[in-house]
Amino acid sequence: MSYVDEVLAKVIEKNPSEPEFHQAVTEVFETIRPVIEEREDFFRREAILERITEPERIIRFRVPWVDDKGNVQVNMGIRVQFNSAIGPYKGGLRFHPSVNQCIIKFLGFEQVFKNSLTGLPIGGGKGGSDFDPKGKSDREIMAFCQSFMTELCKHIGADTDVPAGDIGVGGREIGYLFGQYKRIRGLYEGVLTGKGLTYGGSLARTEATGYGLVYITQELLKDKGMDLAGKTVCVSGAGNVAIYAIEKAQQFGAKVVTCSDSNGWVYDPEGIDLEALKEIKEVNRARLTEYKKYRPNSEYHEGRGVWQIKCDVALPCATQNELFIDDAKQLAANGCIAVCEGANMPTTLDATKYLQDNGIYFIPGKASNAGGVATSALEMSQNSERLSWTFEEVDGKLQGIMTNIYKNISAAASRYGKENDFVTGANIAGFEKVLNAMLAQGIC
Ligand code: NDP
Repeated sequence: MSYVDEVLAKVIEKNPSEPEFHQAVTEVFETIRPVIEEREDFFRREAILERITEPERIIRFRVPWVDDKGNVQVNMGIRVQFNSAIGPYKGGLRFHPSVNQCIIKFLGFEQVFKNSLTGLPIGGGKGGSDFDPKGKSDREIMAFCQSFMTELCKHIGADTDVPAGDIGVGGREIGYLFGQYKRIRGLYEGVLTGKGLTYGGSLARTEATGYGLVYITQELLKDKGMDLAGKTVCVSGAGNVAIYAIEKAQQFGAKVVTCSDSNGWVYDPEGIDLEALKEIKEVNRARLTEYKKYRPNSEYHEGRGVWQIKCDVALPCATQNELFIDDAKQLAANGCIAVCEGANMPTTLDATKYLQDNGIYFIPGKASNAGGVATSALEMSQNSERLSWTFEEVDGKLQGIMTNIYKNISAAASRYGKENDFVTGANIAGFEKVLNAMLAQGIC
């Protein structure tokens, strides 16, 4: 059995009931196979694949808090510090009822390669809780965040582990978490990113993931002799990533016709009204059913269905495993040119393969949504030098980073004879840097 298959089997055996983690490891292993097979004996002796799939540390803790009725609630908190070979652990916190160890491990594993691709000195980690922020009062959110940070603060720091936001963790939550860290540790340091502008946040961080996604999509299209201007785009999600992807795509002259939340989706043939969407989601924190009030000619449908709409470019920006094989077939039948992931692992493995086999350009999230974490790293730099850069300066650096990511993943794919296979390119380019750093640092 080859070394790759041997370790893949071991990972599945050692981590039962962790399907998303298996999925993420399988995808990476399948694509870095040629790199490993070049020096298989050496890598086996070094146990490099065993080391890269075992988190350096998993911290799991109880989060007790008091709700508005005076009842004590208990949630699970977790931080997976996956790999620190190239820098302090960096990765978001997710608050969502679907959070469990498997989900956080898969996200942490992906984060290692994504962070490497940014070219910045950041290792990989991820964390969160099964706490559901939906329907909670501000006071309940604060109580939860303070309790969560009371434990987490023992394990993080500006030079060790720097969490950020993710699903369910936005500016409000980061503020409460930062306040509690400062209170307990007595340190005013860049321990979290995604902070508000009055206390160490970076301009353009809010926009960064969505903007970065569109920058790399445009880079891909330009490389293939096309342009986003005039293209029809389908977006899923209606959160941070989706909203700013829609904004930048519209600025580039594309027409975005869909968005969704976990209850349903909107089709607006005239193009999404971004102001209305921002008011619904960012100001009123309401559901997409509201959208029709602003745009009577739009359609609202319960359930999922964004990918059945004809488009040139698809940008899945909601959550993992939201674009299935049937969706991939529909996109291909509708003449879609490119799928670039805004969310983490929104496309299932078989759907990815179908898209690639049918000539649709596919950029995986670890490359195309890396703009968020890259800008978080720029926030860390600003915090270290106690300076704030202008929006244009940060946005300019973000554009440069996304262009470089595209060039690097393209080049890595070509080096192994896999032209236009950006999944392979992203995994190889991300892996090589971490690998070299791990080997240089000895057995650790
Ligand atoms: P938000 O919480 O702001 O938004 C998530 C959106 O997706 C919401 O509209 C939500 O709807 C929808 N959604 C969540 N779960 C489901 C589901 N099971 N089915 C359908 N829709 C769903 O999160 P973000 O925009 O920050 O993150 C979106 C994705 O992007 C995640 O995969 C995240 O890991 C990834 N990402 C985010 C980065 C960032 O900087 N924010 C950076 C890199 C990756 P509802 O409101 O109904 O729950």
